[in-house]
Amino acid sequence: MTQSKIWLSSPHMGGTEQKYVKEAFDTNWVAPLGPNVTGFEHDLENYLNNNVSVAALSSGTAAIHLGLVLLGVQQGDEVICQSFTFSASANPILYLGATPIFIDSELDTWNMCPMALEEAILDCISKGKKPKAIIGVHLYGMPFKVDEIKAVAHRYEIPLLEDSAEALGSSYKGQKCGTFGDISVLSFNGNKIITTSGGGALVTHDQAVKEKAVFLATQARDTAPHYQHSEIGYNYRLSNICAGIGRGQMEVLDAHVGLRRDMHQFYVDFFTKIDGITVFSEPTADYFSNHWLTAIIIHPDALGGKTREDLRLFLEHENIESRPLWKPMHLQPVFESYPYYGGTIAEHLFDNGLCLPSGSNMTALEKTRIADALERFING
Ligand SMILES: *Cc1c(COP(=O)(O)O)cnc(C)c1O
Repeated sequence: MTQSKIWLSSPHMGGTEQKYVKEAFDTNWVAPLGPNVTGFEHDLENYLNNNVSVAALSSGTAAIHLGLVLLGVQQGDEVICQSFTFSASANPILYLGATPIFIDSELDTWNMCPMALEEAILDCISKGKKPKAIIGVHLYGMPFKVDEIKAVAHRYEIPLLEDSAEALGSSYKGQKCGTFGDISVLSFNGNKIITTSGGGALVTHDQAVKEKAVFLATQARDTAPHYQHSEIGYNYRLSNICAGIGRGQMEVLDAHVGLRRDMHQFYVDFFTKIDGITVFSEPTADYFSNHWLTAIIIHPDALGGKTREDLRLFLEHENIESRPLWKPMHLQPVFESYPYYGGTIAEHLFDNGLCLPSGSNMTALEKTRIADALERFING
């Protein structure tokens, strides 16, 4: 293979990141606190609006873990989670010794089905145990059915943890994703819409919850001259160096959302003339996706029997990275013994769906290579 690799999604620096990182070195703030951490939190608060408070943390997974702690999840509790997601949405339930209950997706947004959610809650209640929290995910940047999911959560008075790790820059009815949960979570891992090389954030509407999150994320030290602890703490704060990268990335966030959406449009335009492949898009104008990754569904019947795996291998041979959609949690060996509510929608998406290269740093030449490869796959 002589041509360079085209990645699914790779870091895309804006240019000012190193200025903030250099400042951290120049002032010797090389620690998990400092002006970049505070500045990055303010940038996120301004961006998300809606009077939120943000605690910058070491990863999105850490933010979900702390979020569940703050919602009072304990050993033996039950926590409802969207099945069609990345494992990091569900792992923290197990960290706490709680039991995950997985829910199928619906076809409009591919996220948690409100009807299966309600069925699961009613079943739990009938068995004498109300779930402690609901984890909803805006997968691939597509907002879940916010009104419907919130209505169910509200009806049964169960708090909502909004996993917005893939949806910074997305919005629903004009309100930014990351502001809909009782607690919301962002990720700045290397492949996300913006990156701090690794990092995450916990978002809340309650300043006191932010303070509690920071307290727990810095080893839960009581006020005392010596080290005194009355609670179990964590080492989950974001480094001031990484936060510097985040400040630079915030300056280009909206531009990069625009570029990801252009990539999505590129695929929509390409596939309109093709039977047998559909591009995942917003169901109505209420939804605005950052299109972190563009996903397609392959219908083998309309493609002469060609499958998702055929396309993935074809692209791999062209040195173009693509990836099957997330394998649902209820089908994962590590989670398959836990309860599941719903049908086969998530499973069908996994069987037939593929994510295509979606980076905001894609060159015109790379786009041509992708289009050319897809053309040959379809006609070959
Ligand atoms: C990336 C991701 C996470 C975890 O974030 P990290 O920062 O990688 O720990 C959680 N949920 C979803 C849906 C993600 O895509």
